[in-house]
Amino acid sequence: MVNLSDQLPQLPIHLDSPDFIWDRRSGRYRYGDSGKFVPREAMLNLQRGYVETIKADFQTLGGLLADGKISLRTWQETTAKTIKTLHTNQAILGRGGVDRMTSADYLAVGRELRSQYKYLQQFATDLTKGTMTRAQFEQRLKLYANSSNISFSQTQQQNSKDNGDRYMRRRLHASESCPDCILYAARGVVAIGSLPLPKQNCQCGANCRCTVEYSNAAM
Ligand SMILES: [Zn+2]
Ligand SMILES: [Zn+2]
Repeated sequence: MVNLSDQLPQLPIHLDSPDFIWDRRSGRYRYGDSGKFVPREAMLNLQRGYVETIKADFQTLGGLLADGKISLRTWQETTAKTIKTLHTNQAILGRGGVDRMTSADYLAVGRELRSQYKYLQQFATDLTKGTMTRAQFEQRLKLYANSSNISFSQTQQQNSKDNGDRYMRRRLHASESCPDCILYAARGVVAIGSLPLPKQNCQCGANCRCTVEYSNAAM
């Protein structure tokens, strides 16, 4: 058995560092030194990069389990901790910093974590059956990182509500979306909160690439 202390997930990204300042009015980050807006694309790259880092952590942990270096229980516990760190950071990133997180935001993260832990429990049970290939195992590991974007979308929606937005619209981006996502996008402009967020209640699930647009007037 190996010591997991050096395999533990990366520390939370430093969103409250002086490098980034949250601008409440615009709902965007500014660079701490120049005061200029951090381009959305740069923000999304930061988020994607972070998710990729955690994805690598999931793979590392999975590899240790597959090679018999850690027990199933250790793997499950450490993976659960990693999932928690990931969702919390995604929520903070979507909200615009730790200081902006409300107890309702943390409750929403908690609700999401409960379903994630259930999936993880099922994953562990399936592993004990010994019928999963290494490729299937790794594929399933990736879903945990991807599905964390839901926590990002949740706090982003909360920001929009706080800013007075009353409408939402779902946009498709994948080359092929599932019937659910197509239906959500087809509904067009609707009241905020009345459609599921990307990766929620759809067949593509963790692989969904849809986005949401918010507005304070009918678009
Ligand atoms: Zn879908
Ligand atoms: Zn989708």
